[in-house]
Amino acid sequence: MNIILLGPPGAGKGTQAERLVADRGMVQLSTGDMLRAAVKAGSPVGLQAKAVMDSGGLVSDEIVSALIGERLDQGTGNGAIFDGYPRTAAQAASLDALLSQRGAKLDYVIELAVDEDALVERIVGRFTCANCGAGYHDKFKLPKVAGTCDVCGHHEFKRRADDNEETVRTRMAEYRAWPNIAPRPRRSSRSTKRAGWFAASTAWPISAR
Ligand code: ADP
Repeated sequence: MNIILLGPPGAGKGTQAERLVADRGMVQLSTGDMLRAAVKAGSPVGLQAKAVMDSGGLVSDEIVSALIGERLDQGTGNGAIFDGYPRTAAQAASLDALLSQRGAKLDYVIELAVDEDALVERIVGRFTCANCGAGYHDKFKLPKVAGTCDVCGHHEFKRRADDNEETVRTRMAEYRAWPNIAPRPRRSSRSTKRAGWFAASTAWPISAR
């Protein structure tokens, strides 16, 4: 089964993807993680992407679709979870092509919808263990022993360079510009968190063309 996880920054796509990976043997394809790895490695892609990522803008469609194609060629176990991709109509068309070239198809598009102010609070407070990647939060989930990772006992932590309020607002504005790609569920003012499930055949017009 191949799915797309849609949702604004901080909605919990990474957390849900981790669960699907652990419980179902699926594989998470996060373009954000791939780009951060490229920046860290100082590769040509990383050098090109860094400034755009720091500002909260979008890296070029060619770069991210090439990363996804390379990753698909390594195999995707019980299915791919696309996290943070596609983000533009051109990327959606590329994904369709990349999948059909490999005899695969998209099964579901899932949107995680969360109130924006709650998201900013979540994002600016989040940090991870520099060793094992376990996630923490200044307010909602501090390590049990201050300065020590609950999972691996490591003492160093890191924060994403783009997890500051200004960049988060830009990233959210980018996300709000997505409605051309997939239909959005109607938001209720009282619900702060809600997951919408759509059958890809009805929610993903690109595949139906
Ligand atoms: P977010 O928390 O904003 O959802 P991601 O980890 O998905 O963050 O992405 C971080 C940054 O990487 C984005 O702000 C953007 O600059 C770049 N990026 C990630 N995925 C894409 C994509 N599909 N297209 C263009 N840029 C991307």
